[in-house]
Amino acid sequence: MKKRFFLLLLIVCCLFVKAQAPAIQSRPYPKNYFRYPLDLPPSIVGSFGELRPSHFHAGLDFRTNQRKGYPVHAAADGYISRIHVQVGGGGNIVYIDHPNGYTTVYMHNDRFNEAITKAVRDYQYQHQQFDVDFKLPPGQIEVCQGDVISISGASGAVEGPHLHFEIRDTKTEETINPQLFGITIPDKVAPSINAVGIYKLDNKPFSENTPHQFLSVTGSAGNYHLVHPGVIDVSGNTGFGITSFDTNSASASRNGVYSIELQLDDKTVYTYAVERFAFDQTHAINAYIDYPALLTTGRWMQKCFILPGSKISLYPQSINRGIIDFTDDETHEVKYIVRDVAGNTSTVELHVKSHTPAPAQTWQPQGTLFHYDRLNEFANDRVKVSIPVGNLYDDVDFIYSTLPMRPGAYSVTHHIHNRFTPIHDQYELWIKPDRDLGQLADKAVIVSTAGSYAGGIYQDGYVKGAAKGFGDFYIRTDDVPPRIVPINISNGKNMAKLKRISLRISDNLSGIKSYNGKIDGKWVLMEWDYKTRVLSYTFDNIETGKHNFELTVSDNKDNAAVYTANFYK
Ligand SMILES: [Zn+2]
Repeated sequence: MKKRFFLLLLIVCCLFVKAQAPAIQSRPYPKNYFRYPLDLPPSIVGSFGELRPSHFHAGLDFRTNQRKGYPVHAAADGYISRIHVQVGGGGNIVYIDHPNGYTTVYMHNDRFNEAITKAVRDYQYQHQQFDVDFKLPPGQIEVCQGDVISISGASGAVEGPHLHFEIRDTKTEETINPQLFGITIPDKVAPSINAVGIYKLDNKPFSENTPHQFLSVTGSAGNYHLVHPGVIDVSGNTGFGITSFDTNSASASRNGVYSIELQLDDKTVYTYAVERFAFDQTHAINAYIDYPALLTTGRWMQKCFILPGSKISLYPQSINRGIIDFTDDETHEVKYIVRDVAGNTSTVELHVKSHTPAPAQTWQPQGTLFHYDRLNEFANDRVKVSIPVGNLYDDVDFIYSTLPMRPGAYSVTHHIHNRFTPIHDQYELWIKPDRDLGQLADKAVIVSTAGSYAGGIYQDGYVKGAAKGFGDFYIRTDDVPPRIVPINISNGKNMAKLKRISLRISDNLSGIKSYNGKIDGKWVLMEWDYKTRVLSYTFDNIETGKHNFELTVSDNKDNAAVYTANFYK
C-alpha cells in the first residue's frame, strides 16, 4: 500500500516536473530589472528565435491591437545610445544602454519623443540624408524606467503595426531571449508537433539529394504520436528532424518553440535552444532547417543534426553533431522533447529497427568537391567563383554548366551550382562578357534568372559581382534612370493649402541609391516610405510666394533622374 502511494507520488512529481521544466540556458539573467515596454496586456505575434526567411527572429513582437499610436516606455533607466532611421528593416529604431550591461531595442516606431526627434532632425540636416544610423554619448538623452521614448507604429519592412523589442548584450551585441528576463507571456499551452523527418546521411554531405522520409504526427496536450504507427528501418549515419510550433494562452498565433531535445534510448544526443545568438550568424537558419524542403514544399523541417560549417550558438549539447550511427540489429527508441519558454512540454517517440550497414562505398562527387572549411575557387575561361572560408555549411558537390544566352544579355547564363544549397554570406562572381559591352561597360551588372541583383563592376575584362546565393547568372546592363511620378505637385501649382509635397519613385534594376530634394537650392528632408514608395517633404517655415522644387534620384549604376517644378505657397 505504502509502496503504491510512493509510486503514485513519484508519477505525480514526474508529471509536475515535466510541465514546469526550466528553460535550458547557459547562464542566469536578471529577472525584475526590465519592465514591459507597453502598457497593454502582454501578448505577442512573434517569439524570440522564431523561424523566419533567412533569419531567426531576434526579439519579441508585441501585439498593438492592429493599430499605431501606443506609448512605448523605456524598459529600465539608461541613456539613448543609438538612433536608426532605416528604409525597410526596423524602420524608426531606438536603442537604450542600461548600466547593467544590456541594451534594449525598440523597432517599427511611428515617431520618436521630442528629444529624440530633435536629435534625428539635426543629424539628418547635418548629413543631408533621411536614413541615418548614429550613436549618442551618455548624458545626451538620459531616460528613466517608464519614460515614453516613442509611439508604436508600423515603420520599416512590416505588414502590420506592432512593437519589436530586443534585449542585447551591450558588449557582444548578441541578442538574448527577453522571456528569460521575466518579460513573460502567459502560456499554459504545450507546443504542437506536426511531423518528424528521418535522413539517411551515410558519409555524404547534406543536400537536396539526401534520402529522407517525412512522417505525419498527431496528438494534443503534450502527447504526440505517429499518424501511422510502426517500426522504422534505419542503418548507418542517420539524422532526425521535426516540424513544430508553439501557441500561448494569450493568442492563437503560431510562434517558435524554445527548445528541442533528441534522445536515443533515454540518452540525450542533441539539444537546441533559442537562448541567445549573434547577428552575423542568423543566416545559419538555412543550415538549421531542411532548406531544400523549405524551397520545394514550404515545410519548416527543423533538423536535429548540425551541419559542420554552422557556427550559430543555439546548440548547447550534441554528440557527433546529433548524427546517430546505427550499426547493431536492435530496436531503439528515439524521443523528441519539445518545450516552450514557459516550460510546457510535448513529446513524440519513434521506434526504429537498426540494421548493420552495408560496407561503405567511397563517395565520388559528380562535379568539383568544395570543402566547407576552406577557401573554394572555381574558374574557367569565362567565369570565376571565389567563396571565402566560413560561407559553406557543409561540403558541396559543386556543379557548373552553361545555358544559352538570354535576349538582351551580354553573356551566356552560367549555372553556378543550384539554389538548394544555402550560403552564409556573399561570394565573388566574375563573368566575362560574350559580346562587346561597348560604351556600356560601366553600366554592366550581374543578375540571376530568379531576378536577384548581384551588383557589378567592369574589371580586367570581367564583370565582377557579389552573389548572395547559388543559381543561374548572366550579364545585362542598367542604363535606365529611376522613375519619378509626382503625386500632388506640378509646375506652377498653388500649394498654399497642402501640408507636403509627395512623389512616387522606383527603379527598374540596380535599385535606388540616393534621393535629394531641394527648395530654392537648399537641401530639404525627404522622407521615404519603403512600402508605398512615396517620397515626401513636409512644409516647415516656408515663406509665402514663389518657390522652386528640385528632386534628383540616382540608382546604383549612377543613372539619375531629375524633376523640377515651381510652386506657390
Ligand atoms: Zn520582430
